[in-house]
Amino acid sequence: MNLIFLGPPGCGKGTQAEILERNHGLVQLSTGAMLREATATGSEFGLKVKAIMDAGQLVPDDVMLKIIDERLDQPDTAKGFILDGFPRTLVQAEGLDEMLARKQRALGAVVAFDVDESALVERISGRFTCAKCGAGYHDKFRQPSKEGVCDACGSTEFTRRSDDRPENVKARLDVYAKQTAPLLPYYTKKGIIHHVDGMADVDTVTRSVRAILNGSADS
Ligand code: ADP
Ligand code: ADP
Ligand code: ZN
Repeated sequence: MNLIFLGPPGCGKGTQAEILERNHGLVQLSTGAMLREATATGSEFGLKVKAIMDAGQLVPDDVMLKIIDERLDQPDTAKGFILDGFPRTLVQAEGLDEMLARKQRALGAVVAFDVDESALVERISGRFTCAKCGAGYHDKFRQPSKEGVCDACGSTEFTRRSDDRPENVKARLDVYAKQTAPLLPYYTKKGIIHHVDGMADVDTVTRSVRAILNGSADS
């Protein structure tokens, strides 16, 4: 099944996509991770993208649509994919519809993560990631089972995102409210949206998402 995970920064999209990739063989397509790879090269394009990301703004729609168009042509996406962080604007959503029709593929569901905005700053500012395999953790909510050692790969190196500082989060939440939240009615009208309670603990959220995958959730 092909899914979109929709919700504000810090709502748990990446955490759940990572779990589904591991346990259900779906491919996680995180546009944020793709862009961070581009910035790491230090190219002129990468530097431009980094400045946009650090300001909490969105990378232009045409750039994002091209990245996803090319990524969906790779054969690993045939077993089903999770779009994590894309689309983020109505232009991207409409472009995605056109693209999927052209590629003769379809969306199975859009999973909307419902969260209290007040929880997001704490979620985002405590977030850290394994430097080697990208597994996501949290200072308070999701520590590795052995302190300082990645559960997934055993690495002892971790990183924090430069855009995850509390002073940046407000800008990102504003951008979400203005540019991305309109996708909720867009997909509601199409009748493919399912809401999950993103405030529940990680395992409970995983069960709700799994119910959607298995077709046993109501809405
Ligand atoms: P997103 O990809 O939507 O920005 P993440 O999945 O990276 O969000 O989650 C943000 C932070 O919150 C991470 O540090 C993650 O470990 C933590 N987190 C994710 N889901 C939950 C949850 N259900 N309860 C508590 N913390 C969570
Ligand atoms: P979060 O975990 O906060 O939801 P992401 O990792 O998905 O963040 O994205 C980090 C940053 O990358 C965004 O703040 C934005 O600058 C850029 N970005 C990611 N996906 C997109 C997209 N679909 N359109 C435009 N910009 C994007
Ligand atoms: Zn790791």
